[in-house]
Amino acid sequence: MAPAKQLYELQQLELEAQQRVQALKTVQVRLQDTGARDRAQGQAAGAKKRADGLRAELRDAELAVQSLVSRVQETEQRLYGGRTTNSKELVSLQDDLKMLTRLRQEGEVKVLTFMGQAESAEAGAASTQLEAVAALKAWEELQGQLRQDEAGLIVEITEYEGQVGSAAAALSGRETALYAALKKARGGVAVGRVERGLCRGCGVALPSGDVQRARAAQELVRCNSCGRVLYVA
Ligand SMILES: [Zn+2]
Repeated sequence: MAPAKQLYELQQLELEAQQRVQALKTVQVRLQDTGARDRAQGQAAGAKKRADGLRAELRDAELAVQSLVSRVQETEQRLYGGRTTNSKELVSLQDDLKMLTRLRQEGEVKVLTFMGQAESAEAGAASTQLEAVAALKAWEELQGQLRQDEAGLIVEITEYEGQVGSAAAALSGRETALYAALKKARGGVAVGRVERGLCRGCGVALPSGDVQRARAAQELVRCNSCGRVLYVA
C-alpha cells in the first residue's frame, strides 16, 4: 500500500475509534443519570405522604367526634335522668350540653371535610403512583438500551483499536515519527485529503505538480501550507 494511503487509513481508523470513545462516554454519563427515576419516586412518595397525613387527621377528627358523642350522652343522662335536682347544677349541665353539642357538630363538619380531602389526596396519590411506575419502566427500558449500546461500543472500540495497532505496526519508523509529529502539531490530523486541488487539512489550493506527485503516491508529499501529508483518493 502507498505510504500516504497507509497514513490516511490509520487516521480514519483512529477517528472511528475516537468517535466511539466519545459516544461511549456519553452513554456512560446517561447510564449514571438517575434523575428521572428519582423524581418519579420522590413525587410518588410525596403524594403518599400527603394522603397518609390527611388520613391521620381524619382519624383524629373521628375520635374527637366519638368522644364528644359520649360526653353529650353522659351529660344528657345526668340532665334528664332525674338524679340531679339542684337547679344551679341543672343550669350548668344545660350549658355543658349546649357547648358539647356545638363542638360535636363542628367536629362532624371537620370529619366530612377531612374525609373529602383524604379521598381526593388518595386518588391523587394513586394516579401519581401509576405515573411513577410508568416513568420507572421508561427509565429502565432506556437503561437497558444504553447498556446494550455500551456493550456494543466497547466491542467496536476494541476492534478499531486492534486495527489501529495493525495499521500503525505496518508503518516504517520514519513514517511513524512524521505521523506522530504532524498529529501533535496539527490538532490531531496528520493527513490532508486532496479534493478538487485543495488540501482538506488547511483548505489552501495546491500547486498542480504537488497534486500529481501525491496522486502518483511513490513518495510522501506534504502540503506546502500546513505541512500535512497529502492523500489523493
Ligand atoms: Zn494543507
